[in-house]
Amino acid sequence: MSLPEADKIISENESFLRKVSGKKPISDISLFLHREKEVRGEEIRNLWTDFARRKRPEDTIGFYTHFPFCAKKCSYCIYASNENDGSESDSYLKRVFSHYEYFSDVFQNISFTNLYFGGGTPNMMSDAQIDLLLRRLYRHYKFDDDGEKTFEGNPAFSTPSKLRILKDHGINRLSFGVQSFDEDVLRSNDRFFGGVAKAIADAVEVGFEDINADLIIGLHGDTAGNVIDGFKRLLELGATAVHIYPLQMKPEYVARYFGGNKALAEGHKMSLIEEAMPKIIELADDNGFWHRRFLEGFYTPDNEVSFNFERGGKRDYEKKAYFSSRPGGLNSIFGVGDWSNSNILGRKVNYMIEKISENPADDVFRATFFSEREWLADYIEGIFFANRIISRFDFREKFGSDIYDYFPEEMALLERDGMIKAEGDKIFFTSPDGTERVKYLLSFFDRNKIKEFDGE
Ligand code: SF4
Repeated sequence: MSLPEADKIISENESFLRKVSGKKPISDISLFLHREKEVRGEEIRNLWTDFARRKRPEDTIGFYTHFPFCAKKCSYCIYASNENDGSESDSYLKRVFSHYEYFSDVFQNISFTNLYFGGGTPNMMSDAQIDLLLRRLYRHYKFDDDGEKTFEGNPAFSTPSKLRILKDHGINRLSFGVQSFDEDVLRSNDRFFGGVAKAIADAVEVGFEDINADLIIGLHGDTAGNVIDGFKRLLELGATAVHIYPLQMKPEYVARYFGGNKALAEGHKMSLIEEAMPKIIELADDNGFWHRRFLEGFYTPDNEVSFNFERGGKRDYEKKAYFSSRPGGLNSIFGVGDWSNSNILGRKVNYMIEKISENPADDVFRATFFSEREWLADYIEGIFFANRIISRFDFREKFGSDIYDYFPEEMALLERDGMIKAEGDKIFFTSPDGTERVKYLLSFFDRNKIKEFDGE
């Protein structure tokens, strides 16, 4: 690639970014380059049948079930959930069971690596509903004994009997949405709360060894001291992992609490992060909690990553831990439920559905089919955006060739402008600015799609 060509690519990327500015978070900008199409359940089943036929022993696959209800909608919520008092749970489970059954034949000879129940608030379900859900799941699907099996919930709905049912059914990881210990902050953010200490104590008592708790940093009315105290309390209570999520601010949230002033809202969040995180990192180190050391000090408002702390060491993402279904990720995800996402790695397909019915064959899913190049580009963009680091070894393992062989000119462009630096097997992205990173990472995508993008 000659210098003028490289400059032209960067200016096309800048023009694309101007067209999409403000329409999606910067981390999701590449979604504008992929076209979705509607696909019936029957075709989705055929795709999974093909996946099952070709699956190699080293390919991992996670199972996700979405429970889309919450007792109260938090004002900051960006997730797929509806406020409901539980009266719709039975009919929803019926729809989930039809999907479990419809796809079960396809996975007859497959053992899922890991399992995740997310939401929404899955532990809002009654003892009987949780028990039935897990029985129906295991009736149709097999799971690796040593894989992570997570159930999410709000501490306010946790009871010893629900925890025992989960434990008896092999759930080995809990994830509680705590968000803050300050009741005034939770109340003013419309959060249904209570019972954190009891929920964690019960979980320890029932024998759970892997208890994650989420905190949010940046809530309106919150202080750095609260976040530090919250982290401390969680360690004292026996949480084995704490994930701290910088609040992703929806325009409605900014309007309600900050008079529509985004800079004010982001400034509040950044000041909390800058004040609280150094202290929290110190606490984590003193208590033997792993965290991503190389990312210290890198947070900017458009990075939207979480600060993860795990007791003892990093979760084994490569093998047995559940993680999201980003295209090009390490494993496939089979998702069931309203708003669930799925990812068929071998076939380079991602799909989602807003509402499932009791007739899965005719349900309409929205699917994106990726070309080889788009799949690789999406992987590179996702990893470089979120982690700022790519292992050449991992890349070769996953895609069979070196990143420099696939993308010699794009890597040369990044090097030319000092965006990356190599250290041994690792390639680091130098810019802490998320928008700047995306501007360069767009170079990996199909040039025609970038050039011809009309802003829609
Ligand atoms: S509990 Fe979670 S999913 Fe439910 S409304 Fe609150 S933020 Fe959204």
